[in-house]
Amino acid sequence: MTSGRQTGGSVDGTAASGSARRQPVVLTVAVLGLALAAILAGLALPTVALPPDDPLPPLARFGAAAGLAALAHLARLRFRVGSGIVNVSWGEAAFVIGLYLAPAGWLPAAVFLGGALAWGLLSVFSERRGVLDVVYNAALLTVAVAVATSVVVPLSRPFDAAPTPVLAGALVLGSLAYLLVTVGLTALTLSLRHGLPLGPLLLRTVRGKLLMFVGNVLVGLVTVTMLGLDPRWLLLLPPALWLLQQTYSHRLRADDERRTWRAFAEATRALNQLDERSVATAGVGGARTLFRAESVEVDVVRPDGRRRRYRGDATGEVTERDLPPHPEPAPEPDGTENELSRSLMVGAAHVGELRVRFPRTAQPGEREHDALSAFGDALGAALHDAATHQELRIVTARSSYEAVHDPLTNLVNRAAMLSKGDHALHQLGHDHPVALLLLDLNHFKEVNDTLGHAAGDELLQITAARLGALARPDELLGRLGGDEFALLMTSVPVLGESAVPGERPPPLPHALRRAREIVDRLAAPAEVAGVRMSVEVSVGVVVAGAGTADMTELLRRADIAMYQAKEGGGSVAAYDSARDAASTDQLALLAELREALDADDQLVLALQPAVDLATGAPTGVEALIRWHHPRRGWLTPADFVRPIEGSELLGSFTRYVVDKALAVAAEWARHGLDVPISINLSARSLLDPRLPAEVAESLRRHHVPADRLVLEITETVVMSELEVIDEVLAALRSLGVQLAVDDFGTGFSSLTFLTRIAVDELKVDRSFVMRMADSPEAAAIVRTTVDLGRELGLRVVAEGVETADQRAALAELGCTAAQGYHFFKPMPSDKIVTVLSALSNSAQSARILPLRADGVS
Ligand code: C2E
Ligand code: CA
Ligand code: CA
Repeated sequence: MTSGRQTGGSVDGTAASGSARRQPVVLTVAVLGLALAAILAGLALPTVALPPDDPLPPLARFGAAAGLAALAHLARLRFRVGSGIVNVSWGEAAFVIGLYLAPAGWLPAAVFLGGALAWGLLSVFSERRGVLDVVYNAALLTVAVAVATSVVVPLSRPFDAAPTPVLAGALVLGSLAYLLVTVGLTALTLSLRHGLPLGPLLLRTVRGKLLMFVGNVLVGLVTVTMLGLDPRWLLLLPPALWLLQQTYSHRLRADDERRTWRAFAEATRALNQLDERSVATAGVGGARTLFRAESVEVDVVRPDGRRRRYRGDATGEVTERDLPPHPEPAPEPDGTENELSRSLMVGAAHVGELRVRFPRTAQPGEREHDALSAFGDALGAALHDAATHQELRIVTARSSYEAVHDPLTNLVNRAAMLSKGDHALHQLGHDHPVALLLLDLNHFKEVNDTLGHAAGDELLQITAARLGALARPDELLGRLGGDEFALLMTSVPVLGESAVPGERPPPLPHALRRAREIVDRLAAPAEVAGVRMSVEVSVGVVVAGAGTADMTELLRRADIAMYQAKEGGGSVAAYDSARDAASTDQLALLAELREALDADDQLVLALQPAVDLATGAPTGVEALIRWHHPRRGWLTPADFVRPIEGSELLGSFTRYVVDKALAVAAEWARHGLDVPISINLSARSLLDPRLPAEVAESLRRHHVPADRLVLEITETVVMSELEVIDEVLAALRSLGVQLAVDDFGTGFSSLTFLTRIAVDELKVDRSFVMRMADSPEAAAIVRTTVDLGRELGLRVVAEGVETADQRAALAELGCTAAQGYHFFKPMPSDKIVTVLSALSNSAQSARILPLRADGVS
């Protein structure tokens, strides 16, 4: 009978780990009991009496039968196929011959003795087995032979009988019974021991055994026939047995080959995974089953040199641990006697090491070497794939993170803000209120320009961190770019009780409150590049029903509100649809402005004199632009200057204003009035290198001396360190044109400004003049500016003087010149000559008259 170690052990086969198995008790007891009963019954039964003339003594016959049984099992074919060991015994042949040699009743006892002898010897010399195991195997064979004998005896008398067809038939039937009992009991034992399903085990064993069964029965019958004819015929038996043995081994080898390949295919298929742990674990498991290994180790070498060991032993569990990054002294290339190892290479890359330890009784041969190479290659490739895949996953994750995040602040970027925001809006009901806050840093450009880009980045990061801490989990915070941040609030809580019962109170107050809270929190002083500053922001707030606008539209509205906040000087403004309509008109406005610049009578200058506080004499006249729009009526600079500044019309506009202003100045000069004219220059004009030449041209054309022209610039712009601005300002100065700092004191670094740019005049911002009476700080700024002007020899002009009190206070602070409604509102240019003449004359007569003129605004 046969079985291979592929089934996990066998009753009459070899199993190195036999001690680890549990022998089913009930079955053991049953088989032992049956065997004992069979032996006793066999001996007690009235069996065929030996013929009186029997030439052999009874003991010889019994001994021959027992010896034959022992021989049949000792002479089993035992050969290695793959890692399995397959046994083929000659049980059926021994049974057939035994029935010829000894009375049938003796056979159970003889087979028990022979079997025990054979298994005992095998156990001593080749495979350690427990006594119980030996006895059990012998008992199993005894039961089988007893059953088989009781099939044969009723049909014929085999003892010492020449075979007849009937006898042969009976012997075949008996052998069949022997086969079924041995196979059945073996399969049952294995099934109970290993918890395997009985059916497939039975089938596999019967199928493997069939060929050998036929051979065994034939050998038995032929031997019996030969013994009857002439025992000398037995000399022909060895070659026949050899032939049979070859056939058996060939057949078994083919079977086993197929099984091995199948197992190999399964093991390599299991490697088909995408992460290191799964591959390594599958590798350990695969190698263990494939090689029936005692233990398997897979050392994985990662691309970064780190190493991890996965180890599996007989228990089937896989443990892992990290190894030091540098390989230990290389193991012997082929491992020890019982161990094979293979370095796992993919191309030139060393991805790991595979080590397989075989049981002591099963030393690896050439086949194992080959199989290990093949399996090692598959494992190496799978590990390499897993590592590549892992890297790919990291790269993909990183790039998908980068795709939606701003690298500087780690906040969501504009594109993601739009898509995530839209997604959030879609989840909400049509009228569910949402609020969008658009935040823009004030003076960010100056920080960037004066302290450098690193400082600018730092300021953005500080702002982002503070906003991040303020944002609630259900709010979406992002950086839109530059110094713009946005916060989308999708659950605007309902505040207080609505005035109208059942009606939702407007969510706007909440959003505004939140915006102010953010402004306040951001304003806490921060240190950037060693400079303490407060983070000032302007916030545009828009509230809408989730289904009424998408993110793009919400951002557009918030943007308008944000500009409103900036212009209004407050830090927070809510979106106002009326303003929006005006701003959507901007493009049309620019087109109309182009016409206005050609028309000559639409854009006019309002003129506002500044006076000497002591004498009342005019110290200068400021030109302020007005647009007499054919449809919209009178427009102030607030309505159109900003759009111009953002357009390519700025150059023409500046030329236009300079030209108009110099024309009026030339006019009053003709009346003998020596008063300079001030013009407001947009910051961006200073970026235009052609400006000085154009100004020079205009001065020449109107025959106005350069020092009669004052260019008012705001400090904020000039702080930028762009070379072109320095060049333009230097060129203007070298023309002899005067420079004034407008809105002095409101900018970021007014004093630094003065050290960089040589100016002639400081214009104290209206806000200080306004607050001077109540605010000691405002008064201090005015006084300091006045002192500074005196120190540096600069004119100081106070702007926006509206009351006599303000005028008196300024005089007391030492301010020499002022401008404001208290003296004159901006007036049309045709009145200016009269006004200036009157002022000059009255100043000569040392009387200061608070004259009032009608302005156009
Ligand atoms: P600014 O240079 O600070 O001009 C002074 C503004 O204060 C003028 O407003 C003027 O009408 C107003 N003002 C004068 N006295 C008083 C007063 O006593 N009380 C109050 N409340 N306001 C007073 P306006 O004309 O609306 O001009 C606003 C701004 O537009 C100007 O501020 C200036 O920055 C800009 N601007 C005016 N004309 C031009 C121009 O031709 N080109 C450029 N680029 N900007 C201009
Ligand atoms: Ca001005
Ligand atoms: Ca001003």
